[in-house]
Amino acid sequence: MNGKATTTRSRLDRGRSALGPALELVHTGRAPTRAVLTAELGVTRATAGAVAAELEALGLIRVDSRPGAAAGSQGRPSHRLTVDEKGPVALAAQIHADGYRAALVGLGGRVVATAPGCVTVSADPAQVLRAVVASGAGLLRDSGRRCVGAGLAVPSAVAEPEGTALNPLHLAWPAGAPVRDIFADLVRDAGIEGPAFTGNDVNLAALAEHRHGAGRGAQHLLCVATGHRGVGGALVLDGRLHTGSSGLALEVGHLTVNPEGRPCYCGGRGCLDVEADPLAFLTAAGREPGPEVSLLQQSRDLLRDHADDPGVRAATQELVDRLGLGLAGLVNILNPDRIILGGLHRELLAADPERLRAVVADRSLWGRSGGVPILGCTLEHNSLAGAAELAWQPVLDDPLGALGRPAA
Ligand SMILES: [Zn+2]
Repeated sequence: MNGKATTTRSRLDRGRSALGPALELVHTGRAPTRAVLTAELGVTRATAGAVAAELEALGLIRVDSRPGAAAGSQGRPSHRLTVDEKGPVALAAQIHADGYRAALVGLGGRVVATAPGCVTVSADPAQVLRAVVASGAGLLRDSGRRCVGAGLAVPSAVAEPEGTALNPLHLAWPAGAPVRDIFADLVRDAGIEGPAFTGNDVNLAALAEHRHGAGRGAQHLLCVATGHRGVGGALVLDGRLHTGSSGLALEVGHLTVNPEGRPCYCGGRGCLDVEADPLAFLTAAGREPGPEVSLLQQSRDLLRDHADDPGVRAATQELVDRLGLGLAGLVNILNPDRIILGGLHRELLAADPERLRAVVADRSLWGRSGGVPILGCTLEHNSLAGAAELAWQPVLDDPLGALGRPAA
C-alpha cells in the first residue's frame, strides 16, 4: 500500500515537472503526436499520456485520440496533439513610430484578434499606452477568453532590471521613460489578469521567429529588421535571447555603414539606422514621404509597384549594399548559423537576394561565415507574437502553478 502510494506520488511529480516541457513542445510544433511527445520527453507512454491529459484538462491543448489514418499507413496512428484553439490568450501590445497595435495571441503564436491604431505618438508614454491597453481590453471583452498576462513591444532598448526605454529615438518619449511600470499599472487598472512584461520590438520578433517562424532550429540566430523607423538587431542563443548585462546588447542600428553618410540621432554619421530604414529608401528613390500611410507601407508599395523604375532599382541596390555591409560586420563578430531579416529588410532580400548574399560573403572571408543562410522573417506580426511569448512564459515554465489550479 505504502509502496504503491510512493510510486503514484513519484509518477505525479515526474508528470508535473514534465508539464512545462511538454507544453513547450506542442506550443512550438515539435510534438504533433503523443508518440513524438513520449520520445522527446524520454518518459513512458503512460506518463506522456497523463501529461497530455492534464494539459488538455487545463484547456491548453487538444488530444485527438482518433486522427484520420493516412491511406496505406500501417497500424494505429498515434494521438494527435494541437494547441486548444479556444484556450486562453495573452494580450500583446506594440508601439511604433506611426501608432500602436493590440492583439490577442494564443498558444502556438496564433494571433486570435488584432486591432491597429494610427496616432501621432505623444511625448507622454502613458497616453499611447493607455490607448493600446484600452484597445486590448476591448478585444479581450469581445473574445470572452481567459487572459494569462500581457506583453508590450517598444521600439527602444529596454534597460534591465529597471524596465526603462533607454533610447526611444524615433518616438518623442523622454529617454529613460519607465515604460514597464506604466504598462503594468495600466494593465492592472484595466482589470486584466496576469503579469505584465515589456521588451524591445526586434528582440521579441526574434524570439517569436525562433519559436514559430523562420528561426526554428537555429542555434545562433541573428535577426536584423527595420520596422517603421530605424534598424534593430537581436541574437537568440540556444533558444534564449542574448540581451547583454543590462538589456542593451545588439544595438546594431548604430554600426557605421557609410562614413560620409547622413547624421544620425545618436550623434554619429552614416549609421545603419539612418542609411537602411524606410525613410532612407524613399529618399534614395527620390520620393517625398507622404503622411497617409506608414513609411514602411510606402516603401513596400514602391518596391512592389515600381520595381522597374530606374530610381527605385538604384535605391534598392544602394540599401542592399549598406545592409550587406552591416550584416557582414555582424557575421564576423557573432558567427551566427542563420540570419533572418524583418520589415523592409525582408523585402530588400526578396528584391535582390543574390546581391545581398554576395555583399555579405565578400566581406566575411573566414571559414563558413560567408555562407550563412539569410532568410526573410515569416510571421506576420512577429513583435506582437514575441510580446505574447513573454506573457506565456510563466505558463510554459509551470502550467499548473501559473493557471492557479492546485496539484492533484
Ligand atoms: Zn547612430
